[in-house]
Amino acid sequence: MTTELLFREDAYLRTATARVVAVHERGIELDRTIFYPQGGGQVGDSGQLVRANGERIRVADARKGEAPDSVVHVPDASMPRVDVGEMLTLELDWPRRLALMKLHTALHVMSCVVVAPVTGGNISPDKARLDFDIDMRLLDAAHIECETNALIARGVATETVWISDAELDARPELVKTMSVQPPRGSGKVRLLRIPGIDLQPCGGTHVANIAEIGAIRVLKIRSEGRRNRRVEVALAG
Ligand SMILES: [Zn+2]
Repeated sequence: MTTELLFREDAYLRTATARVVAVHERGIELDRTIFYPQGGGQVGDSGQLVRANGERIRVADARKGEAPDSVVHVPDASMPRVDVGEMLTLELDWPRRLALMKLHTALHVMSCVVVAPVTGGNISPDKARLDFDIDMRLLDAAHIECETNALIARGVATETVWISDAELDARPELVKTMSVQPPRGSGKVRLLRIPGIDLQPCGGTHVANIAEIGAIRVLKIRSEGRRNRRVEVALAG
């Protein structure tokens, strides 16, 4: 069952209503959602589902379902069961999601300061990291922090653009991430553009203007195997 992914059009939606379309051992599927399911290195959203009678169901995590573009809302254990067809009010754990959006967008900016193939990445609410295939001697925490924050200070609005699979195939330089290829098969690929800074395929949630990030600090840089150099950052302040 496909879920309408409301966060793709508007990452700032904190609440919505939706109908239950399936309940199974993994969790609850809805006809539409504001919950981002874990993917592309970004953790899944948490929040609440509110029944018409006021009962609240805590959603601990959101994961991709079996069908493309489907989302499974994973409730905490011992939560009341919901019924197929029932209408629910969705409430996102917004401070957590906003932190994820800031850190996620910050990684896009940082990937233009450290120019090297990206071999992995992860975004959690308190910190985020990118792994690069690069010589350790080329990584300097103060430099990365300073350059990334200088780009953030430009205060550029981000844009979502869609291109066809064929257009992406013709521009392989857009794909910086070696470990995560953009999803294919639907015929089109979503890109995040930060004008003058970055353009790359991404299905995640981003802030509308990079100024919202404020600034980042580099927590650490360390070697993770022969080819991997990990740069971990957090929001400053
Ligand atoms: Zn992204």
